[in-house]
Amino acid sequence: MRSVQTLKEDIDLRLVVEADLGPSPMRGGRARLWRCPFHGERRGFSLAVWPDHWRCYGACQMHGDAIDWLIRFRGMIFVEACEYLDGNRTLAHHSAVARTSRARLEEAKPPDAAWQEHARAVVWRAERTLWSDTGFMARSYLLNRGLTPETIRDAHLGYVPGHWNVWRHMDELRVPCGITIPWFDGDAVWTVKVRRLGGNTKYVQIPGGSAHGMYNAASLVDHDVALFVEGEFDALIAEQEAGDVVGVATLGSATFTLAATRVPDLIHCRRILVAYDADAAGQKGAAYWQSLTQRARVITLPFGKDITEFVQQGGSIKGWLGIALKQSDSGSTDTCGDFSER
Ligand SMILES: [Zn+2]
Repeated sequence: MRSVQTLKEDIDLRLVVEADLGPSPMRGGRARLWRCPFHGERRGFSLAVWPDHWRCYGACQMHGDAIDWLIRFRGMIFVEACEYLDGNRTLAHHSAVARTSRARLEEAKPPDAAWQEHARAVVWRAERTLWSDTGFMARSYLLNRGLTPETIRDAHLGYVPGHWNVWRHMDELRVPCGITIPWFDGDAVWTVKVRRLGGNTKYVQIPGGSAHGMYNAASLVDHDVALFVEGEFDALIAEQEAGDVVGVATLGSATFTLAATRVPDLIHCRRILVAYDADAAGQKGAAYWQSLTQRARVITLPFGKDITEFVQQGGSIKGWLGIALKQSDSGSTDTCGDFSER
């Protein structure tokens, strides 16, 4: 193994953190900023991450290097953290790529075949567990969100049992405990996200996955209207309720940008509806879509903080989309003002 010093120097820590927390919603100089997961930050972005170290400027003031991050966030012991940095050539490669300038539309590729094979095995095992006695609580959680058993099965959701902050070794991968959400696209597995059932950082992903895919992209094929929502569960419930009217997909977060390789998925769509949460990240994401294409329209829910809550409170997604489409086609409500097609 290379020296600990070399391991730290060869890695771009920002990519390690991105794999854990998703894309950074803000930047400041060379640092990328996130909500600090260690003190459960709800407002603000106190966690600053540079290529070689991180620091919280908020309540907890924690700081450290790449190894400290792996120990504190992923619960690795020192030796595991060193082995992870030493063995992760993909990460080192991406670090090298990240040092060069990035295009506004980022390129994206699924992980290598070996990773995908392991990920498929994990997804399959987790899916079996979800439908066994062990999966009862996780199943109840999903059903309470309004997802039908059919939707849950179609999405191949699964469950890895254990306390929310535990990571398991499964099929050569480190897997956080919780509900597994695989990102399939055709034959490829892009990533496996995990919804933890406790703690402040609700969503984590199995290391090695690509966070630059498009969840549920297949549903866009047969529709000329696309609906983009913030998260996977919102996408599933919108698809369940209105999948015959619109194609529903998500980039996984309001702050994610579209990979250039995904643009063809949207060429045939006459209208792209963007329903993000009414917070700072959601507004920034919506503005991004509008800067990307004049076909994008931002729509807001009549009530509820997100699509899941809207449905739980009796809202009709079809009814809402019907009105939103009529308004966006007539140009009467959107703030964009310009509805000429490109
Ligand atoms: Zn903190």
